Amino acid sequence: MRSPQSRILLPAFLILFCAPLGAQKIDIPDIPGYKTLQCDFHMHTVFSDGVVWPAVRVDEAAREGLAAISITDHLENRRKDVTSSRNRTHDTAKQSAKDKRVILIRGGEITRAMPPGHLNAIFSKDNDALYKEDWRESLAEAKKQGAFITWNHPGWDRQQPHTTRWLPEHEEIYKNGWMHGIEIANGGDYFPEAFQWALDKKLTIIGASDAHQPIQAYADFAKGEHRTMTLVFAKARTEEAIREALDNRRTAVFFKDFIHGEEQWLRPLLEKSLVVQKITHKPAATSGASTSARTEKYEIVFKNNSGLLFCLKKIVPGAPSHYFREYIIKPQGQLTLSVGTPAETGSDEISFEVSNFLTTPKTPLIHTIKLLPTPAAKTTK
Ligand SMILES: [Zn+2]
Ligand SMILES: [Zn+2]
Repeated sequence: MRSPQSRILLPAFLILFCAPLGAQKIDIPDIPGYKTLQCDFHMHTVFSDGVVWPAVRVDEAAREGLAAISITDHLENRRKDVTSSRNRTHDTAKQSAKDKRVILIRGGEITRAMPPGHLNAIFSKDNDALYKEDWRESLAEAKKQGAFITWNHPGWDRQQPHTTRWLPEHEEIYKNGWMHGIEIANGGDYFPEAFQWALDKKLTIIGASDAHQPIQAYADFAKGEHRTMTLVFAKARTEEAIREALDNRRTAVFFKDFIHGEEQWLRPLLEKSLVVQKITHKPAATSGASTSARTEKYEIVFKNNSGLLFCLKKIVPGAPSHYFREYIIKPQGQLTLSVGTPAETGSDEISFEVSNFLTTPKTPLIHTIKLLPTPAAKTTK
């Protein structure tokens, strides 16, 4: 039997050594030419209607391996006893961001009923100057400060109860150059209409936690969950490089197990994450059943080098859809697949739909693999 003292010490020992701080980080590979930066540009603190101190937001981000955050307290919805400058949030968190190597981008949320709803101005210079009676003046000032402006949670139930609509006010905002990005995912909500608008109107897609509570309220890290975030494909891990990437729409949205974004970013991300280690050819049987049933058999070994999950569904491009089993390749996981192609088609390719990589609200990324059996390990290109 252990002494009372060791009974106290043992759990502490286990906590220290079994829960390394890196446990919450998700490994998402860089793509050729760009670093993949995990960012969250929308969250709150005690300086508006959140419940945590600004430096805590930095600690959370550091634990999760985020490159950058913006603390976007509401300029308007503040507790009555908060009378300080609207720059206080950012200034309070600055030192801790420096210590933890998290890029802290100044920002604030312009908060109105619908229309126009809520908009974030990040990369703002002076949040006090953004605070105005008239939202048009706030947005004009944000633009004057060189801020990057996003329309937040466009399909928020409370503001758009039936359908997610692009209203005349949003058209006006867009035409005035007061909207550069749009949230297609916010916390636990996803807005497919906004994703389509972003593609059509060339807006930058954004995903954000909009955390008001401590971040653990939104993600069970022990289960491998993560906050909703924006993946920024930047030339460097700097504030300027993030801004350049946002201005040039090099983002994807990481929401639950889904990655949303344009094919030009999702394809390299897939190819860097999921590699084909080996393909083995098993020649078709020549005796027995009728020739029409003959198939060429291949064994494919996939290795997932990332912390992302992949859902693959075997398809025949252009053919009417059939039922095919869905294969899940877990983070850092491996999968060996036995597949057949009809021998008479002579096809040396096999295609998969990556069901959780969406390049439009309705289009999954298609991943085609050349069936070239090689003795050596081979990666897909
Ligand atoms: Zn709020
Ligand atoms: Zn909001």
